[in-house]
Amino acid sequence: MAIVTPNNQPGVHLKEYSYVFRLSSEEARVLNRHRDCLVRGATGFAGIYYDYLFDNPDISDILYAYERKGGDIGQWVRTELGYLFDALAPETDAGRENELTDAGRHHLEQGFKPVWIISTYHLFIDYLKSLLPDLNLKPADSAKLESVLIKLLLRNLGQVIEGYWQAALENTENKLARLAGEQGRAEELLGGLPYLLWTVDVKKNDVVFANPSMEALYSDGLEAPLPCLSDTREEDQQQLLLTWQNAVSGSTSHAEVRMSLAGGKLHWYRVSLYPALNRLGRTTKVHCILEDINRLITERRRLERLATTDALTKVPNRALWADHLSMALAASRRVPGSQVVVISLDINQFKMYNDTLGHDVGDILLRDIAERLNTVVRESDSLARLGGDRFGILLQPVNNARIAAERVCNQVLDAMDTPFTCQGKHLCIGVTLGIACFPEDGVNEESLVVNAESAMQRAKRNGLPYQYFDPASDVSPAEQLRYSGQIRTALENDEFELHYQPQVDLQTSRITCAEALLRWEHPLDGTVMPQRIIPLAEQLGMITPITNWVLLTALMQCRQWSFDGTPVPVSVNVSARSFQNPRLLDKIKWALSETGVDGDCLEIEITEATLMQDIGRATEVLTQLSNCGVSIAIDDFGTGYSSLSYLKRLPIHTLKIDQSFIMDVASDQQDVAIVRSIIDLGHNLGYKVVAEGVENGSSWDMLSSLGCDAAQGFHISKPLPDSHFSSWLSGANAFT
Ligand code: C2E
Ligand code: MG
Ligand code: MG
Repeated sequence: MAIVTPNNQPGVHLKEYSYVFRLSSEEARVLNRHRDCLVRGATGFAGIYYDYLFDNPDISDILYAYERKGGDIGQWVRTELGYLFDALAPETDAGRENELTDAGRHHLEQGFKPVWIISTYHLFIDYLKSLLPDLNLKPADSAKLESVLIKLLLRNLGQVIEGYWQAALENTENKLARLAGEQGRAEELLGGLPYLLWTVDVKKNDVVFANPSMEALYSDGLEAPLPCLSDTREEDQQQLLLTWQNAVSGSTSHAEVRMSLAGGKLHWYRVSLYPALNRLGRTTKVHCILEDINRLITERRRLERLATTDALTKVPNRALWADHLSMALAASRRVPGSQVVVISLDINQFKMYNDTLGHDVGDILLRDIAERLNTVVRESDSLARLGGDRFGILLQPVNNARIAAERVCNQVLDAMDTPFTCQGKHLCIGVTLGIACFPEDGVNEESLVVNAESAMQRAKRNGLPYQYFDPASDVSPAEQLRYSGQIRTALENDEFELHYQPQVDLQTSRITCAEALLRWEHPLDGTVMPQRIIPLAEQLGMITPITNWVLLTALMQCRQWSFDGTPVPVSVNVSARSFQNPRLLDKIKWALSETGVDGDCLEIEITEATLMQDIGRATEVLTQLSNCGVSIAIDDFGTGYSSLSYLKRLPIHTLKIDQSFIMDVASDQQDVAIVRSIIDLGHNLGYKVVAEGVENGSSWDMLSSLGCDAAQGFHISKPLPDSHFSSWLSGANAFT
């Protein structure tokens, strides 16, 4: 690269050296006369120069590094000496001058210090001066020659140093140009960023940097440390100040706050504060970034809503409901004695409407139902769509779960009373609800939801509007899965058994009937009760073979009691699904003829719900059974929705009052009133009335005084295996 002098004329400076240190004619004459001798003598300087270079460790390190990079030290030293010896020439030309400046440049590149160069010249002058006495000069010439040598070496040294500093200057200029380029790009970047940036000197509490947007926004002055504090919504200011404190303590901190900048609209901003620490770990500066995140927040809210709200009905979805539920349980755990109610709700006719009228109608229906449910559920409670036609209702901690659940269930049922209008059609909708209460019906969210669902399924099977969870009746999904494989083989493996429970005449204390009750002697779980077997068998399509087996076994047992001289009629429970089986009648007739037992020794027990499912078919089956002498008992009477007008028309013989009315009949006036009216009703219609669940003598006495016909319950006997029941029969045919 050509050396560019400050006045932009290469070589101008070098010429100046030649001018300043030019020789007079007398000096040139003295030099010319002795120059050859001096040049010859100068070669002896090589040894001194070597010593000088290698005695100085800093210089020798540079030379060795030069060698390691492939340079030749010998050549390098020879070139240097050549420059020194050339100084003895009286005249100089541009070519030589450039060589010297290149040498200076080279020294800089290698890391030579100017002082080392000057020292070399100093040594060389001393050396040349030591040669003078041998030249036998006149004293005047000797002084003149010495001054000539000094001039020549200073000229030479000046040109080398000129090259050195020109190169240094160029380097600095290049660096500055590069820095200026980088600074320009950084400024461009900072100016173009959609952020407001500023830096605060913590000690001075002063804004020491602000990007152009920040400066433009606060052109009146940047108030340290947070110029945006006064534009921040009052409720969020404390949060912003806390974030600043955290940053000053050395932690990177963020805050999302609402601000109205430059009197504009209130927007969400994220303030990010990055502390810069000194070596002692103290925060010296804080770099601050302010970013408009309004769109981000709006989008985030929209996604949150989408993730937690059911898109069709706009009520919370399962995920949000689960959240509400876990919060309610946590709140309830803090208040001993409080309960949380979880209700599972299913729409009875939804599938039918959806399939026949189309999904558009289905969607409108779901929306309308959700709207009505919303009017029933209090603000503090929570309604959610759990999927399909399934909704969930959560009642926040209450003191009496039953009262609260019953209130909500009845309100829900009332809300469904008015038909829905969809595309000009009036649609009647019924719902079924299942209730589980925390903590008694489940200790966590999952078990409560599962149990409320089981209760709802049972309510559906029994044709009831709602049911509470009952661990004895509701099968857990895990248990359901396990038993579903085993129940098929249980019949073949002879694992089913019948227990018998007597019914006794309240006046004479004589046994009037024995009810056959199913048990599964499970090889691992022990005795499994019928409430767990029957619903599962119904779902798995196993109820018909089980009912057939019960019928045949019970009738064979009945025949055995006759043989034993203790004849007792037997009663058999028939589930809803079995009752709907068109072959039931044939099976009963076949079992009677197979065992040779008379029809009047058999009673069939069905529930009100079973009867009401298809009243036309029920009338037909019951009439035919009645024609065979078989009597019909309505089981669990009082828990369902009986239509008295239908009851009157059916050939029914017995009403079995549900045990829930009997348990406390001796002490509860309300139960007395209900039981009395059922007995009156039954008798008016000509039925025998049996009370189930008679557990003690006082209930017996009360029932007896109310005119009830017969009683069944633990007070008389628990259900017994056949052998025990036979002994009981022979020993205590008359219960006293
Ligand atoms: P259910 O027909 O109402 O039978 C009476 C239930 O009350 C029996 O329960 C009996 O053990 C119980 N019980 C009787 N006296 C008392 C008492 O004093 N106190 C109390 N706490 N309970 C008493 P179990 O045997 O568990 O049967 C439950 C239900 O399962 C029966 O109710 C019946 O609906 C059904 N079930 C039983 N066996 C069969 C069957 O072979 N087929 C069908 N489809 N259902 C059956
Ligand atoms: Mg029964
Ligand atoms: Mg019953």
